[in-house]
Amino acid sequence: MPLGAEPDRNCPRCPRLVAFRNAWRVNEPEWFNAPAPSFGPIGARVLIVGLAPGLQGANRTGRPFTGDYAGVLLYDTLSRFGFAKGVYAAHPDDGLTLLDARISNAVRCVPPENKPTPEEIRTCRSFLKETLSEMANLRAIVALGRVAHASVLAAIGARLSVYPFAHGAQHATPHGRLFDSYHCSRYNTNTGVLTPEMFRAVFAEVRTYLDARSQASTSAAF
Ligand code: SF4
Repeated sequence: MPLGAEPDRNCPRCPRLVAFRNAWRVNEPEWFNAPAPSFGPIGARVLIVGLAPGLQGANRTGRPFTGDYAGVLLYDTLSRFGFAKGVYAAHPDDGLTLLDARISNAVRCVPPENKPTPEEIRTCRSFLKETLSEMANLRAIVALGRVAHASVLAAIGARLSVYPFAHGAQHATPHGRLFDSYHCSRYNTNTGVLTPEMFRAVFAEVRTYLDARSQASTSAAF
C-alpha cells in the first residue's frame, strides 16, 4: 500500500529515530515529538526542502522551521520575497501563512545531533517523493544544504554528478528548476558560511524565475 506524502505519527521505519522520538515523548510530553508535516499549500509552485526537524524547532512545535533560529531567517526571507504573509512568532498558531511556497524536510523525524544516517535519508525519501509528486504546480525546488539537494535529486531520479551542489547554483532538471542554498542553520550563519544577504539572493532568484515564467505564459496567451 502506498505510504502517501505524510508519515504516520508513529512511523516505525527508522529504529534509531523512533527510539529518539520515544525518549523525547517521555522527556517532554507536551512537545510534538513526531514526523514534521509539510507546511504550505499543496498547489504552491515552490517547495523548500530542509534537512530534518530541529529538536527544539519542528520537533517541539510541529511546524517546519518553527521555534529555532533557522526559522527566523527563513521566514523573514520568505516574507521579503512575497512567499509568506503575517508575522512569524515562532509557534504554529502565529497566523503566518505561506504564499505559493511549501516547506518540507528530507527526513521527517528529528535525528540526534541533527545528523540523519544515509539509511534514514534513503528510508524517508518515499515521503519526499510523494510530496514532490502531489504538487501539480511545482516549478521550483529550493534545497537547503547538500543532504536536501542530494535527496531531491534521488527522489526525481536525477544524478548528483550531473547536478552538483553549490550555494547559489541553479539546475534545470527535468522536474523543474532546482535552486541550491547553504542551510540557514544557526551554525552556518554564526560561522559566516551563510549570510542573510547570501540567503536572500537565492530567493530573489527564485522570485525572478517565477515572475519570468508567469510573464512568459501571459504573453503566450495573447
Ligand atoms: S524519518 Fe521518515 S521514514 Fe524514518 S521514521 Fe521518521 S517519518 Fe518514518
